[in-house]
Amino acid sequence: MDSHRALTGKVALVTGAARGIGRAIAVRLAHDGALVGVHYGHSEAAALDTVAEIRKNGGRAFPVGAELGVPGDAAAVFEAFDAGLREEGSEAGEVTEGGALDILVNNAGVSGSGPVGRAVPEVFDRMMAVNAKAPYFLVQQALPRMRDGGRIVNVSSLASRHAFPESVAYAMSKGALDTLTLCLAKELGGRGITVNTVAPGFVETDMNARRRATPEARDALAARSVFGRIGMPSDVADVVAFLASDDARWVTGQYLDVSGGTDL
Ligand code: NAD
Repeated sequence: MDSHRALTGKVALVTGAARGIGRAIAVRLAHDGALVGVHYGHSEAAALDTVAEIRKNGGRAFPVGAELGVPGDAAAVFEAFDAGLREEGSEAGEVTEGGALDILVNNAGVSGSGPVGRAVPEVFDRMMAVNAKAPYFLVQQALPRMRDGGRIVNVSSLASRHAFPESVAYAMSKGALDTLTLCLAKELGGRGITVNTVAPGFVETDMNARRRATPEARDALAARSVFGRIGMPSDVADVVAFLASDDARWVTGQYLDVSGGTDL
């Protein structure tokens, strides 16, 4: 790996990185030189596949397994992260005791909460637990480890700022995440840590496969972007890489629409 890459020497943790947008973010940050913790909930095989892809391309990564949205989730993530970091660091001859961290990407999320008329408390609680509460406590665990000049990127959704009545609790949980971004940006400025939100529109991942089930449905989604296509995970990952880099040091507390001009 070139020593002049933008993220050389940085340590990153990307949640929900076994597939979809998270995987693309992990691959891109590793490409830029970061050592990446590839977090997953249950899909260990897919996480190991992501790690293998990164290593094949000359990057460095390790898997971090822990389910989110359950009691003790954030502590479990960092226990697994520290263990992976120690192992990876000892292989590379580095001292990584103390679990240094530079970049936290809160990407993992669940959707499909449905309209308010069909809502049930358990689904509402699940949306909040995975999409808002888990990032909040992950940040709490991350901050003592994060080096000055660090980066937090929260993956929200266009749904928090455009009316999205088909999935209200999901949209609300992303609204909570946006507020977390704003509060943290103010709190952490003194440490040179930036905190930003990226908000994808429709991206081709498992999350919205149902919405692309027919060619007509696909075309309808594509038509909502000014570019006439559905987003790809790399469209989002490239923007996260920018926010994670030193080039974005003067950008904080922002909600960045990464939707290809959806519903402009
Ligand atoms: P995805 O379903 O492919 O990926 C979600 C990831 O989160 C998966 O790796 C999944 O395992 C992980 N995850 C979900 N619940 C978890 C839990 N309880 N514990 C641990 N891991 C868990 O979907 P994606 O499109 O890649 O979504 C990534 C992020 O992008 C999400 O936060 C989503 O809300 C957001 N987003 C996606 C779209 C889209 O169109 N795909 C649009 C806007 C926002």
